[in-house]
Amino acid sequence: MPTSTKHQQQQARPSPVLTVDGWNQFPWLVHGFSTRHGGVSSSPSNFTKMKSKDLNLGKVAWDSQRNIAENRSRLLKHLEAESMDLVVPNQIHSDLIHVLGPEYSAARAWTGDGLATNHPDLLLSIQTADCYPILLVDARLRIVAAVHCGWRGTLRRLAKKAVGVMKFRYGSRDRDLWAAIGPGIGACCYQVGQEVRDEFQGQFYYAAKLFTTRWQTATAIQRKYPLLFKHVRNPFGPVHPEVFYLDLAKANAMQLREAGLSVSKIHVASQCTSCHPDLFFSHRRDLGKTGRMMAVIGIRSCN
Ligand SMILES: [Zn+2]
Repeated sequence: MPTSTKHQQQQARPSPVLTVDGWNQFPWLVHGFSTRHGGVSSSPSNFTKMKSKDLNLGKVAWDSQRNIAENRSRLLKHLEAESMDLVVPNQIHSDLIHVLGPEYSAARAWTGDGLATNHPDLLLSIQTADCYPILLVDARLRIVAAVHCGWRGTLRRLAKKAVGVMKFRYGSRDRDLWAAIGPGIGACCYQVGQEVRDEFQGQFYYAAKLFTTRWQTATAIQRKYPLLFKHVRNPFGPVHPEVFYLDLAKANAMQLREAGLSVSKIHVASQCTSCHPDLFFSHRRDLGKTGRMMAVIGIRSCN
């Protein structure tokens, strides 16, 4: 029995990387969205008593360079991409997209939130811990791109601009484009302020579809000492101001539709990073003390 139980546990262990089912039809493509599983790090937020250590792939204060290097090495090994150059941009919540060609240099620092290439052996990466990573593929011309979409990148239409780069720099056609919106914080958890809603209303005619509004109820004492009642449901009391929840996955899916992609070629990961401490890091849930996942995409050189 112990052997059987151990075997079952091993079988149930989550994969370090999630992939898009329909994309295995492209043998030249390497892609994946990492989870927190399969690494060597111990994050301060590992409160779920998980047996496995964390696959932290970002340079964060609580983790060592050695651990991060080992975790990245494990990710590449899992993807059978050890020979590829992992391109890690310095993300700044911008709409800057870099096109990497044969002149690519590993020595150069890339600052921005989007990468695109048709050059083989480059593994483009985006780090997240609630923001949405989006991967793009042109299946005909073999072009790949990766972008980092938090609310700022989404407001700046970064995903749509990345499709624009693929069209204007490489000549991509709508019907050849595929997109995958990776795990990020869901509308269930992503509360934003009025100012964010105002910004979206100023940019998108369909902004009302991107927000849900809830009423926050609170008594005077709860308003004065909110932390004391953070986890207590209040059955009565005056109605407190509205609070807004933003659906970033839907916002980006709509931009990709506007950019010309067919809905059947837009994959959207269904799991919220904040709701799944067993699977994902979440900056908001873990109050900033968390790790980074990585979404990666690249082209294998032909044999
Ligand atoms: Zn959630």
